[in-house]
Amino acid sequence: MKDIKVSHQIVDTDAQWVLDDDFVSPGVDQVKIRQAVLMILEAIGDDPHREGLKGTPERVARMYAEIFSGMHQNPADVLATRFHVDHEEVVLVKDIFFYSLCEHHLLPFFGVAHVAYIPKDGVVTGLSKLARLVDLFAKRPQVQERLTNQIAETLDQELAARGTFVMIEAEHLCMSMRGIQKPNSRTVTTTGLGMLKTDSVIRQELLRSIR
Ligand SMILES: [Zn+2]
Repeated sequence: MKDIKVSHQIVDTDAQWVLDDDFVSPGVDQVKIRQAVLMILEAIGDDPHREGLKGTPERVARMYAEIFSGMHQNPADVLATRFHVDHEEVVLVKDIFFYSLCEHHLLPFFGVAHVAYIPKDGVVTGLSKLARLVDLFAKRPQVQERLTNQIAETLDQELAARGTFVMIEAEHLCMSMRGIQKPNSRTVTTTGLGMLKTDSVIRQELLRSIR
């Protein structure tokens, strides 16, 4: 984890701004984000001090601390809770809704993740932890391919599973509200590891469960 020093100097004089503790994410420099948003508003030719934009840089700074909070969390911590059950079949959590931001445009992409693994020696984690793992990696600047890989690889490493499989289906606003402007197109990515890469019978069965 990077240790970013948070500077509390506020350059703008009309700011009576205090950091909102509710949204402080250690390592996210909200003061810097606020300054950057002020500059963007100026750069597009707007007046950041007009009525409607009052407080916008501060709100964006708090929002970024929230939606990028996954930058400063350790994925291994999420899977630290493990227990033993007598189960060696596929565990699948479908339709985990997520929001992320594409690292090329900082625009949202969102959709669902399907996360599956085959426990080894009965070692499992809580079902909600799979959703938390998706969230942690989604709350970073991302590309969908890497998001898919990171979830699968972390599960593989931390649980030493016999197989892991992750499928993500998402719509990217950088494809719908700008650029080629194709709304409603979905991008599907998959990563399979271990038995869920090599055993085509189990993999087909899993794909049928996801559909
Ligand atoms: Zn993009």
